[in-house]
Amino acid sequence: MDRVRGRFAPSPTGELHLGNARTALLAWLWAKRAGGGFTLRIEDLDRPRERPGMAERQIAELAWFGIDWDEGPDARTGVDAGPRGPYRQSQRTRLYEDAVRALGDEVYECFCSRAEIAAAASAPHGDEGPRYPGTCANLSSSERSERRRTRVPALRFRVPPGAVRFEDEIQGTQQFDVQAETGDFVLRRADGIHAYQLAVVVDDAAMGISQVLRGADLLSSTARQILLYRALGLAVPRWAHAPLLVSSTGERLAKRDRALSLDGLRGRNVDPRHIVDELLRLSGQPASPGQGLAERTRSFDLGKVPKSPLAVPDLWW
Ligand code: GLU
Repeated sequence: MDRVRGRFAPSPTGELHLGNARTALLAWLWAKRAGGGFTLRIEDLDRPRERPGMAERQIAELAWFGIDWDEGPDARTGVDAGPRGPYRQSQRTRLYEDAVRALGDEVYECFCSRAEIAAAASAPHGDEGPRYPGTCANLSSSERSERRRTRVPALRFRVPPGAVRFEDEIQGTQQFDVQAETGDFVLRRADGIHAYQLAVVVDDAAMGISQVLRGADLLSSTARQILLYRALGLAVPRWAHAPLLVSSTGERLAKRDRALSLDGLRGRNVDPRHIVDELLRLSGQPASPGQGLAERTRSFDLGKVPKSPLAVPDLWW
């Protein structure tokens, strides 16, 4: 098995936009630069939010863009290819259940509703909602059976106190205090859907992913994931979080902005090599118009990718 393996893991909830394409591109080049393998995983955990047929469209768009993978759903047939499948999270539930079981006493049942958690939180909420104050962390077994009569529990991970530090190969040294900032986080929702934080760790480990490159919006999630790697006794991969792409007025590129979706650009007959070149230029790499992806591998330098959000020039809109 290869020592270096990268991956791209889109959720089929909307069109792939330029930001996703940039992430796929950098993750691919980082892996290929080291002679590594590349996996495509479809993160279709949240079936209710999924758009039918979207995974197939994303696969087709990535292939058009020039990204290839040696493990994942085949670009033409959609059939899984590779020894560590299935490559769709909706088919990997058993592995997530095994991981929850392996975590043993580090997992507990939580009966709180969202409204109860919001009401109990003392600090203002960030993007990810209020910190969980640990209401259900120490319920007795009779209290649990009592609550189970009226509510289906979620499962939460008991977060150890203290700072989690890690090196990010784009953003530099990072430190998060997960217990203070997030509290015990959800591993499985009350509706039975496993949480992204758990699934991504189980899958990256089981699929032999040695390096994770993704958008900087997931930087704080990384600390939670490291805690799960440790609790499960798994090897932690290398991390690189690429700056978000924003419009020239600083707004985040929304998935719904069709003009900047790969599908929309393809519909306007934009040459994918031009998109590659522009995205690499924005990512601090030298311009080489007309070159395909393969030729860009040798000159790729992760160290040149800037840290702060990157404004996509208006001519793209
Ligand atoms: N599925 C996530 C997304 O589309 C990415 C998760 C990851 O790269 O860890 O935003």
